[in-house]
Amino acid sequence: MTIHEHYPLQRLTTFDTAATARRYLRLDREVEPLLASGLLDSDYLILGGGSNIVFTRDYPGTVIQLAPNSKIKIQNSKLITGAGLQLDALVDHCVDRGLGGGIENLSAIPGTVGGAVVQNAGAYGVETGEFVDRVDALDLHERRRVTLSRQECRFAYRTSLFKEQPGRYLILEVHLRFATEYAPVLKYKALADELQRRGITSPTQRQMRDLITSIRWAKLPRPEEHGSAGSFFKNPVVDRDTYLRLRDAYPDMPEAHPTPPDNNSTFKIQNSELSYKLSAGWLIDRAGWKGRTLGRAGVWPRQALVLYNTGGCTGQDLLALAQAIQADVLNKFHVQLTPEAILI
Ligand SMILES: Cc1cc2nc3c(=O)[nH]c(=O)nc-3n(C[C@H](O)[C@H](O)[C@H](O)COP(=O)(O)OP(=O)(O)OC[C@H]3O[C@@H](n4cnc5c(N)ncnc54)[C@H](O)[C@@H]3O)c2cc1C
Repeated sequence: MTIHEHYPLQRLTTFDTAATARRYLRLDREVEPLLASGLLDSDYLILGGGSNIVFTRDYPGTVIQLAPNSKIKIQNSKLITGAGLQLDALVDHCVDRGLGGGIENLSAIPGTVGGAVVQNAGAYGVETGEFVDRVDALDLHERRRVTLSRQECRFAYRTSLFKEQPGRYLILEVHLRFATEYAPVLKYKALADELQRRGITSPTQRQMRDLITSIRWAKLPRPEEHGSAGSFFKNPVVDRDTYLRLRDAYPDMPEAHPTPPDNNSTFKIQNSELSYKLSAGWLIDRAGWKGRTLGRAGVWPRQALVLYNTGGCTGQDLLALAQAIQADVLNKFHVQLTPEAILI
């Protein structure tokens, strides 16, 4: 274990704001010494690929990061990967071997496998949690190794047990399971339309991966060019009355599909209990923010859900822009936006 004092964090997150950590610890092979090190007795934060964390100030505790990991093994038809592996490298590995129908829809999401499990990262109708069989982790509160089943991980829209209890678990390894037959997941009309435009009728997994990668980078800022954390806000979930009110007032609003309040519920759901996930990007765009900048923070011109670093953006610049957008959307639509990105 090597500990660095006053460590710069700017290059460790994709938003690229300047900040330092009081201490920085990179964990290589041996992770158990962390449990007895005393570092867990004061503030600490686990950092993956830093693609969903934005430092708005210096961090006064210890930032803990797993060393990059490229270890993938197959055991009893399950694929086991270290949490420090880049998610995109895992997707590429699966596509190369024809594993994991659907996982190709997660192509080009920055960050690590561990971070994707915490956030239940998702794209194009697929979420990371769907592939998780179990997770091996250190329970940093109980100071011991634990194994958590998929059910115990409590995956839901952009959240999980790990997000509900930040700092409790350090994810070390993830066991993945896959469907045996490959079938492309085409829940998103944009994908089906693009395939049709390219004249592809039954896409291979590799074709899906290439297509998704190219669609994503056409509309998102590339981390090496402009700092961002991807979608900055969550798509807000509203009740039926709010949805109907907005739909009447804004006929151009994208249609939202109803979801029951609890997906596991066995009771008959009344209409009034249904909730609707709105497009945060549409709300921000309709409020007139797409392409605008405030200080050195901006709203990405090709995707209003993405806030980005126009160059030298500070945490305070970003917070000022995010709060201005939240206030304006609340004022215009009576809908509260909440950040998806983790603001430190
Ligand atoms: C250009 C761009 C596009 C994006 N597109 C998408 C998208 O389509 N869909 C989507 O869902 N997200 C997207 N994101 C957001 C982000 O990439 C994902 O949420 C990603 O999965 C985060 O992984 P990370 O390793 O960077 O985690 P970090 O940002 O480093 O951390 C996220 C959380 O996970 C915790 N964590 C990380 N590793 C571990 C670990 N080993 N053990 C315990 N806790 C850990 C951290 O403490 C933190 O709470 C995008 C981001 C960018 C910059």
